[in-house]
Amino acid sequence: MAAHEPLGREYLLHEEIGRGAVAVVRRATSRHGGPPLAAKLLRPELAGDRRVRELFLREDAALRALSHPAIVGLRDLIVEGGTLALVMEYVDGPNLRRYLSMRGGRLTPPEVVVVAAQTAAALAFAHERRVVHLDLKPENLLVVRGSTPPEVRITDFGVAVLLGGAHPSVAGGTPGYTAPEIFQGGPPTPAADVWSLGVLLLELTTGRPHGDPSALPGPLGPVARDCLAADPRRRPPAARVAAYLRQFAAQARGIPPVAPVSGHPIGDGEPTTLALGFPPPQLPQPTFPPPAPPQPPRAAFVGHPGGPRDTIGSWAGQLPPQPPPPPPPPSRRRERWSRGPLVTLAAAVVVAAVVTGLNLATSADARTGDLVTQVSIPPAVTPMERGVGTLPPTNDVALPPLNTPAAERLRVTMAGKVDDGAGTLAISIRDGQAIAYICDGDRLEAWLKGTAKNGLLNLTGKNDTKITGLFDARRAAGEVSLEGRTHRFEIGVVRKPSGLYRLSSQVGGARVNGSWIVLPDGRQVGVLLRGETPGPAPVLDPAARTTTIDGRTVSGATTIDVDTGEGF
Ligand code: ADP
Repeated sequence: MAAHEPLGREYLLHEEIGRGAVAVVRRATSRHGGPPLAAKLLRPELAGDRRVRELFLREDAALRALSHPAIVGLRDLIVEGGTLALVMEYVDGPNLRRYLSMRGGRLTPPEVVVVAAQTAAALAFAHERRVVHLDLKPENLLVVRGSTPPEVRITDFGVAVLLGGAHPSVAGGTPGYTAPEIFQGGPPTPAADVWSLGVLLLELTTGRPHGDPSALPGPLGPVARDCLAADPRRRPPAARVAAYLRQFAAQARGIPPVAPVSGHPIGDGEPTTLALGFPPPQLPQPTFPPPAPPQPPRAAFVGHPGGPRDTIGSWAGQLPPQPPPPPPPPSRRRERWSRGPLVTLAAAVVVAAVVTGLNLATSADARTGDLVTQVSIPPAVTPMERGVGTLPPTNDVALPPLNTPAAERLRVTMAGKVDDGAGTLAISIRDGQAIAYICDGDRLEAWLKGTAKNGLLNLTGKNDTKITGLFDARRAAGEVSLEGRTHRFEIGVVRKPSGLYRLSSQVGGARVNGSWIVLPDGRQVGVLLRGETPGPAPVLDPAARTTTIDGRTVSGATTIDVDTGEGF
């Protein structure tokens, strides 16, 4: 095709910018000027199909009405000769699949929260307007170039449903991303998009689209688990997921409020205080009320009554059942020390920006200082139960407040190696305060202090050392920035005598400062500063609080004790 080829009366087509299963996407401009556009030109065999054209024309208004900051706006529908083109806003930036590969396959947990919050808000907005996506996946999320944390825009709303409705042979869904009930011939409901959102949470966090959602760190675990409920009626509405994620970050004290990412108030409910902490494995998982009795499928969701119900129903039946999800992925990838983006704090700030409210089902119980709060998004009241398009307000269920004393009293130490194996990190958390130490056992070390509140870690140390991330009662995950390099971590709870120790003394006229992390298997990693000179720390006796330096026994080591408060 020649450059600057006309499209309809108003547009000019320029170079190809993308190509997918059903279309070629070209940059476009209006003859009247204005912002850059993208034209999605459906493959000729689809564009020439009468049913496809009819459905697109019929739902044109519904798709154009989706004006939301996290949805690529549809500006025009051109049906002309053998051409069917969707003229959209142009998004300058890679799709999330490419972005992920540029980032090594996954994002930091706070970035995942940011992306998922935006995506959930966009889904909620569309669902309220009776439009489902049905093909939500990283390829259909565009990342605004240079945005930190990632700002995303969803493309292709309604396209999968319309194409599927008209042309069952081209509609596929995406294995892994498409809800199991869709593969089994069930109706395309908003709950199917919520499933895909759950898969997105998994993939963005772990690098793989399957695995145990409950194992995700911080607030991501419960939300992913609930989104991935096998029964679509048990999945939360997207509005509730959006509210959950926004609330989570907004409640983090110490993060300044900034302007919302979205101008749209998605999600209902007054702001509530959130305590994020999740039950240890032995505690029972939240139980859901029994599902509502099965109802006849209601297929259509794009547009209005009279939409393409029958055809969509038959499309959904074309696909084979989805195999059960494979076991959880092995632990993290390993990499050498590498420069990485310092984005997590900014990510948290942006999450904080989009907060208004939250409703979660919780039950809390404090036992000897351990956090045993159970948090779960309440069961979804899906359109199957309530009528298509009438999502219930998120505060229609009486829920206990979330600022439980148990969360405020979390006292725990987590320790382990950072992901690239370049250092060992320990973080002690006591009543919202956090102290951390990272070292390589040789010359690199840093102590940090800060807060661990509402599921967010935020610590700083000398020379711009920073830790940001998420935590719950069992583990912490995030990034540590040290000497200009960024290292991801995911560490679990350790018990005394494991933890942090330090010692400051005078030996042979010289000042010595030792710092140690004692790991559960008894191994120790530490650095000893003689004056300003770092070196490997000698063995520490954690029970006697002594070490031996230059043949002398030196006593007086102290510990960071989350129970007694020593060191805090
Ligand atoms: P298909 O539906 O055929 O799979 P997509 O809609 O996924 O096609 O488009 C293919 C690629 O084109 C996307 O991954 C993206 O890189 C690019 N693209 C799509 N829409 C836009 C847009 N609005 N702005 C910029 N690039 C876009």
